[in-house]
Amino acid sequence: MLVHYPTAVSNARKSAAMPISHFFSRNPAQVVKRLLSAVAIVCGLLGANLVLPANAQDVAPSVIDVRLGKSGETTRFVLELSGKVEAKAFTLADPHRLIIDLPALDWELASDFVPSGRGMVSSFRYGLFRPGNARVVIDLSGPAKISRSFVLPPDPANNKNWRIVFDLVSTPDASFRAAAGWPDAAPATPAITKPTPDVPSAKPATNARKIVVIDAGHGGVDPGALGGRGTREKNVTLAFAKTLGEALRATGRYEVHLTRDTDIFIELRERVAIARRHNADLFISVHADSIERRDVRGASVYTLSEKASDAEAARLARKENEADVIAGVNLGGDSDEVRDILIDLAQRETKNLSVRFAQTVIPKMSEVTKILRNTHRFAGFRVLKAPDVPSVLIELGFLTNSDDELSLTSSSWRKKTSQAIARGVDAYFAERLAEASQ
Ligand SMILES: [Zn+2]
Repeated sequence: MLVHYPTAVSNARKSAAMPISHFFSRNPAQVVKRLLSAVAIVCGLLGANLVLPANAQDVAPSVIDVRLGKSGETTRFVLELSGKVEAKAFTLADPHRLIIDLPALDWELASDFVPSGRGMVSSFRYGLFRPGNARVVIDLSGPAKISRSFVLPPDPANNKNWRIVFDLVSTPDASFRAAAGWPDAAPATPAITKPTPDVPSAKPATNARKIVVIDAGHGGVDPGALGGRGTREKNVTLAFAKTLGEALRATGRYEVHLTRDTDIFIELRERVAIARRHNADLFISVHADSIERRDVRGASVYTLSEKASDAEAARLARKENEADVIAGVNLGGDSDEVRDILIDLAQRETKNLSVRFAQTVIPKMSEVTKILRNTHRFAGFRVLKAPDVPSVLIELGFLTNSDDELSLTSSSWRKKTSQAIARGVDAYFAERLAEASQ
């Protein structure tokens, strides 16, 4: 059934006739995949042991279409699924969003599909929010309420599968705010990183293998920036993080961990916590930027500062810090718990080391790829707030520039740029070691 906060909606109702635009249809490759898995199940049943293939027993339902339509004052949002699932919906203010929580689902949508808006929906995104929990986040064009929501069973005569339908209408802002908020079932996610009273000082330089944590920006329900050819930042960052990890491991000098190695959403503070749990000596968060001016291109490296180096850096930090809002995370008001210890001496030392790594890696990167002028900038990036782990955020380039987009999706570019960054990591630790022996 479908739970709609604060009022539960149960009975399926007949769909009102309404023009619905099909933004995309079933991806042919996925259809083939499903046919093949159906064949695999049949073969398994014919076999001697009658055991289903391992992955056939818990196949998640698939989202096979998403449709958006408008009729009069009503905007209709439809998810079409291969099976019946439970959905929970609630609204959040500032920015105004509608969140639809679902169990883990396969998204059988065309890979180059770009959601667009209509009526009360200005845009939406979808993906894995956490293991076992998929999410659709709808950005509302104004205060809206769900006037109706219901589930429709399959309708083979019209070639329709299970559908979950939300009808949205405009509502006064005061009413929206009164109804918005977290359902009781979704308490604030517990803070993972609690500030300790005394933060350990930066680790002394030693000969042991250094621990590097690489953070692929965005992921899952948070796609990040979008390129002109439909390239998603979350895919660029994941591919690059893996290649950089390989380049560092190949030296034999580093223990490398990735904050994510799949297409999943991770909160910013959890990324920081992962670096601290691994006792990282260096944290590198990789991203790709977007900007209105399409001629702007090149890589840049950022370190943490409460005061931004320039307006552009401040804009970028605001955008990157929105990741949790984009994914509809309940921050519970404690998102800046690390802020209080910013002035700690260990933090100051960490900031100095972060700056030195940035200054070391930029010349190496400039040997192989285009970099922005004033390449090293600083701003208040939440993902760089580990008080005891030197941290940088590398914007690899601009997805809005066609040359950069080509580079960012090229495996040879990934490889040479990763190797350049690895040389920067080498130089940084060599310098630290030389200092420690003085
Ligand atoms: Zn980003």
